Amino acid sequence: MGDYVWMDLKTGREFDVPIGAVVKLCDSGQIQVVDDEGNEHWIFPHNASHIKPMHPTSIHGVEDMIRLGDLNEAGILRNLLIRYREHLIYTYTGSILVAVNPYQLLPIYSPEQIRLYTNKKIGEMPPHIFAIADNCYYNMQRNNRDQCCIISGESGAGKTESTKLILQFLAAISGQHSWIEQQVLEANPILEAFGNAKTIRNDNSSRFGKYIDIHFNKRGAIEGAKIEQYLLEKSRVCRQAQDERNYHVFYCMLKGMTPEQKKKLGLGKATDYNYLAMGNCTTCDGRDDSKEYANIRSAMKVLMFTDTENWEISKLLAAILHMGNLRYEDHVFPNSCLCSVSISCMLLFHAQVDPQDVMNCLTSRTIITRGETVSTPLSMEQALDVRDAFVKGIYGRLFVWIVEKINAAIYRPPSHELQSVRRSIGLLDIFGFENFTVNSFEQLCINFANENLQQFFVRHVFKLEQEEYNLENINWQHIEFTDNQDALDMIAIKPMNIISLIDEESKFPKGTDTTMLHKLNSQHKLNTNYIPPKNNHETQFGINHFAGVVYYETKGFLEKNRDTLHGDIIQLVHSSKNKFIKQIFQADVAMGAETRKRSPTLSSQFKRSLELLMRTLSGCQPFFVRCIKPNEYKKPMLFDRELCVRQLRYSGMMETIRIRRAGYPIRYSFVEFVDRYRVLMPGVKPAYKQGDLRGTCQRIAEVVLGKDDDWQIGKTKIFLKDHHDMLLEIERDKA
Ligand code: ATP
Ligand code: MG
Repeated sequence: MGDYVWMDLKTGREFDVPIGAVVKLCDSGQIQVVDDEGNEHWIFPHNASHIKPMHPTSIHGVEDMIRLGDLNEAGILRNLLIRYREHLIYTYTGSILVAVNPYQLLPIYSPEQIRLYTNKKIGEMPPHIFAIADNCYYNMQRNNRDQCCIISGESGAGKTESTKLILQFLAAISGQHSWIEQQVLEANPILEAFGNAKTIRNDNSSRFGKYIDIHFNKRGAIEGAKIEQYLLEKSRVCRQAQDERNYHVFYCMLKGMTPEQKKKLGLGKATDYNYLAMGNCTTCDGRDDSKEYANIRSAMKVLMFTDTENWEISKLLAAILHMGNLRYEDHVFPNSCLCSVSISCMLLFHAQVDPQDVMNCLTSRTIITRGETVSTPLSMEQALDVRDAFVKGIYGRLFVWIVEKINAAIYRPPSHELQSVRRSIGLLDIFGFENFTVNSFEQLCINFANENLQQFFVRHVFKLEQEEYNLENINWQHIEFTDNQDALDMIAIKPMNIISLIDEESKFPKGTDTTMLHKLNSQHKLNTNYIPPKNNHETQFGINHFAGVVYYETKGFLEKNRDTLHGDIIQLVHSSKNKFIKQIFQADVAMGAETRKRSPTLSSQFKRSLELLMRTLSGCQPFFVRCIKPNEYKKPMLFDRELCVRQLRYSGMMETIRIRRAGYPIRYSFVEFVDRYRVLMPGVKPAYKQGDLRGTCQRIAEVVLGKDDDWQIGKTKIFLKDHHDMLLEIERDKA
């Protein structure tokens, strides 16, 4: 009684793992247990196999899960659960920090806490995001090497908050309270205003990926930073799902501007605009859009946005809203729409362009064949697509321009002599693995990025494991690990890979989503990582990713990948007197119509920026933070076991464990081993009375485990397999 056990109810559900339980009653072969969720169960002799003894390390939990005797999903899950119930949201798994979103403000981020975590070794203090930040900082200085922190997890898991906490810690300990430090910190509210939105998963969801590289001078003070952004979700500007919003900045602007400013831009309230009201949700609980607007404005001042630039940005945002209210009827706008067009014209083109030209541009398409210009009317659907493409084009380019503007303020290119002394810490806050009911081109890009990060992670973990074996003189040749290189090869590395085929088809004038799918099928149907459509009518293909199979709907793939604006639109921008819009479209205008057709596709740009990112990361010592979302309701103290198991599995953390399993997952220092197992050999004295600890370990292991079994003695530790540990524990219980 009072014993702890694992209970496996064998439900067969994909994400169901054994649950911890405590024995309440034993009665003639029947056992009553209460599980971790408080539910009672009777175990009868015929299903005694449903319970298994729990390793002592799992009973009260450990700070580093590598120490768990039950180093498996059930063990990890229970460890996180019992810590979470005590508000201990941070836990290590070796070199990885696991952070479970508390969904409440915990008193663990104060200046006092920052002081406590400064200049400490990992393990000296309880696990904390500050410990990771502190280690990054001191490793950087001690080893004179760049560091990086890869923060992953699904939407709402806490990546962005973790990134901000690390940044806050670094700014505090680099301790200059300098202007540049403030600028680096204030970049965030701007990025969030333009790149974050309320979604059903997260009220402040980042709809882009980012890598912030923070630069330090010789003395360890922040001297600048550089921000890299990836794949903003442009479609959100035109379309939002039920209960979701457009980007924060629109709502903030409408709440925060003065009536005069709004009047100049012809603006009303959020519910007046199609682009803002589509999700039937224009406010967000706990967010004060008007206050946020003031914050954004002050952050923009800190980052050197001029009043003129701010006004130009507001004009573009307002024009976008007006454009969203255009209504088409049979190739023409009703008169009521002329007003919206005229306002958009005024804002976008400084009224230098005739509204009629804009209308023509949005309702017909000019094609030049053999020197002749032919104008064909567009269907209503096509016309709406042209408008949306234009709007997405504006917003996407505006976002890129804003990031460049921020970088212009915070980035100082290293001078030649400085290059050798300057060091950096990079923080990667990037979209986690995605698998929705319907997945499209965006998910392919995101999951491709995650395959890359997984490869980086696996290599790193495996390398660390090998390093420890080398240090301890352990023979490790026979260790294998699951490698996702094959999947990565198929997606983007080997000739005729999936990305390159999609790209090729995008450039091919006659290419369609269907011809693309045919090419993918014929090239990859024999690859075990590829799942072809079941029949000729199906438009989905699947990829066996490291985190599971994802099916991609190919409809719209090529269009999204081409990501081009029609020549008429570029022409329109070109003829505008609005310098700002011309500036953000500079690259497009500079390109001739012909080169524009060959302009880089979205996937090729993304692939390139990922390659650069991976190159940067490989030059760094990495830290990994895995954020876990404990429930779907944004609620504190609610831990959904299956949701967490799914994330643990998809996070790649189980890979560390798999690598450990392949090697020697259990290791004890000689002292620990002797003191724990000396009961198995009569007459063995406690460790502190031992002269030859290593020899004593060896003797115990030989007697209990057998001389020839696969365990090894290193320089400071004994390395064991799981079954050795089990055997030792059983013997110890008997003794
Ligand atoms: P997305 O991928 O959608 O951008 P994310 O992983 O970046 O998601 P965050 O925006 O960082 O998620 O976190 C979502 C919310 O969870 C935050 O707005 C905050 O309310 C809460 N949260 C996250 N981390 C913490 C924390 N350490 N303490 C308190 N609350 C937190
Ligand atoms: Mg985020």
